[in-house]
Amino acid sequence: MPELFDQLSTRSALAKIGKDFHHRGWMAGTAGNLSARSNSIEDCFWITSSGLPKGQLDKHDFILMDLKSNDVSQRFYENAKPSAETCIHSTIYTLFPDSRACFHIHSVDACIATSRITTGQQQMLLPPLEMIKGLDIWQQNPEVNLSLFENLLDVAEISQQIQTRFKQTTPEIPALMIRDHGITVWGNSIQQTYNRVEIIEFIMSYLVRSN
Ligand SMILES: [Zn+2]
Repeated sequence: MPELFDQLSTRSALAKIGKDFHHRGWMAGTAGNLSARSNSIEDCFWITSSGLPKGQLDKHDFILMDLKSNDVSQRFYENAKPSAETCIHSTIYTLFPDSRACFHIHSVDACIATSRITTGQQQMLLPPLEMIKGLDIWQQNPEVNLSLFENLLDVAEISQQIQTRFKQTTPEIPALMIRDHGITVWGNSIQQTYNRVEIIEFIMSYLVRSN
């Protein structure tokens, strides 16, 4: 039996996933961020510290954030700061209380695929691939849309737009895309979120190669 990520401690699992995603080119340098809810402290989640190379994380390179206050609850290094994109993770955990993990990565294929979508369009229609089933969509020739947001310098504004749109309309799949930037995926466990990132990235690669 493989060792599933949820069988590891939360921070060890996230550090391992950082190395994995870095090797695939999805977290080059310090790009992207990984988070998961604490198993022991309610309404708190661990997230990668800002500015660290994601291929070299260890279990002390995470910060515990309090969802209610938006403050740092625990850190291992005095100068460690939460990522500027932490607000997007907070928004996802608040909007979807069952979500246990949230991963945000920057991939070349996601950037290329979104560059082909007309500016202002708020969704990307995904191809009806077998892989869509991995997102719990069980339909013949599914027509599934991935929510698309514009990339803004002000990350808090992106987070606000996500909150506003998803409060009005539940996304069709547990993922969103920021144009020319990357994907954010969430799930009910670390392993499920990891699997979903692979599926969305598979679809992005397909889109890039099929055009
Ligand atoms: Zn980012």
